[in-house]
Amino acid sequence: SSGSEENDVVVIGGGPGGYVAAIKAAQLGLKTTCIEKRGTLGGTCLNVGCIPSKALLHSSHMYHEAQHSFASHGVKFPSVEVDLPAMMAQKDKAVANLTRGIEGLFKKNKVSYVKGYGKLISPSEVSVDTLEGGSTIVKGKNIIIATGSDVKSLPGITIDEKKIVSSTGALSLSEIPKKLIVIGAGYIGLEMGSVWGRLGSEVTVVEFAPDIVPSMDAEVRKQFQRALEKQKMKFMLKTKVVGVDTSGEGVKLTVEPSSGGEQGTLEADVVLVSAGRVPFTAGLGLEKIGVETDKVGRITVDKRFTTSVPGVYAIGDVIPGPMLAHKAEEDGVACVEFIAGKEGHVDYDLVPGVVYTHPEVASVGKTEEQVKALGVDYRVGKFPFLANSRAKAIDDADGVVKILAEKETDKILGVHIMAPNAGELIHEAVLALQYGAASEDIARTCHAHPTMSEALKEAAMATYDKPIHI
Ligand code: FAD
Repeated sequence: SSGSEENDVVVIGGGPGGYVAAIKAAQLGLKTTCIEKRGTLGGTCLNVGCIPSKALLHSSHMYHEAQHSFASHGVKFPSVEVDLPAMMAQKDKAVANLTRGIEGLFKKNKVSYVKGYGKLISPSEVSVDTLEGGSTIVKGKNIIIATGSDVKSLPGITIDEKKIVSSTGALSLSEIPKKLIVIGAGYIGLEMGSVWGRLGSEVTVVEFAPDIVPSMDAEVRKQFQRALEKQKMKFMLKTKVVGVDTSGEGVKLTVEPSSGGEQGTLEADVVLVSAGRVPFTAGLGLEKIGVETDKVGRITVDKRFTTSVPGVYAIGDVIPGPMLAHKAEEDGVACVEFIAGKEGHVDYDLVPGVVYTHPEVASVGKTEEQVKALGVDYRVGKFPFLANSRAKAIDDADGVVKILAEKETDKILGVHIMAPNAGELIHEAVLALQYGAASEDIARTCHAHPTMSEALKEAAMATYDKPIHI
């Protein structure tokens, strides 16, 4: 049906970039087809990324709270135990509901959906090997590539998704490993490490670089690392894995200092490889129609998301920029607006980043290191959650708000928050930066009491003047 007539827009990939682009295109009156090979919509994010990881983070947090915090709040149980299959079933239910929900949105917006593997055969035709067998050709005046990303493997380490797992395997382990080694201290490694650590695994994170989450503001990162260490997560920084032996019952890793030196051995039941993600364009036929990629395989695009081939666009994880679902969605909307003859816009400096551990860490704009490098005179305002009444009331007060503002104008340059709900708190700051606000603008905005948001107001006061509560 979708293949027989020409579409205005054909989207390859049904992840947050692709499905959002498809819905937006249909809303703008464009005839649209989306091709997805997975069998379900939502891409990496809904199926094996953002959503299942947040489901497990929440469930494991509840267990951890029940074990370690409930009694001090006067809630007592004779004992608490983990039912891992039930926990996994809850996660799977959340994923299934949400992916089906997107199918519903496609129907509602009249987006045609073709299940199968898409391959470009010309700048206006995609050949699809359909999941039900056979192939079909889908034609479109405009084609959007939204094929996303895949796990990056490390040389010499074969992922079997049993003993050596990627994030996908780590989201569905059938047993709680006694010892888990996480290779790579990025947000995915720390989130999955937190899940299994809370459920009882001894977690060691091995990281080549000198720091965890290198993009984070250094001062906040230090506090964050301490918070994770308090939860018994161990870190081996400036360390590289040079050998893996899976011949025995568990896994033996040979490690050495990143700069070379004496080797050591680590043992684990499961090893999670989370050393980053790479753009996914296998079997897409880019070279056939002449779509150019950069050194690391990302599709190069201009400000209008056009690739080197006119009429062919690319968005999301498969192009340069932060590999985040909300960034992919913004790309998708802007790209389709351009196609429809409107103006699209994404401000890549204002894409918030969140690590969904406990506490969470969220940030937007520049870190102190970046501000220093710019050579701008700046002020810093900080406020600890230890002085925030709501955080104290609920006995969850490990965290801080840090604001960086230009000294001369008080314009906010960056905001960094570590707090139980930092991922929600950050959006007030994102909006402030979007509007070019000064710290005084936040400080003079009435914030409800008692809320964690008041810490942002007080940090803003501390930026250009003095806070009240510390
Ligand atoms: P994808 O979501 O990767 O979707 C691409 C889709 O295209 C896939 O479904 C794939 O099957 C399909 N496809 C590929 N090639 C073809 C083809 N030739 N034909 C047909 N279909 C094809 N981001 C956040 O913002 N917040 C988070 O909390 C978060 N947590 C994460 C946790 C984990 C464990 C992981 C792995 C990732 C996480 N991410 C998170 C990142 C997020 O998942 C990605 O940034 C996002 O999914 C990118 O969207 P996309 O549409 O560009 O690509």
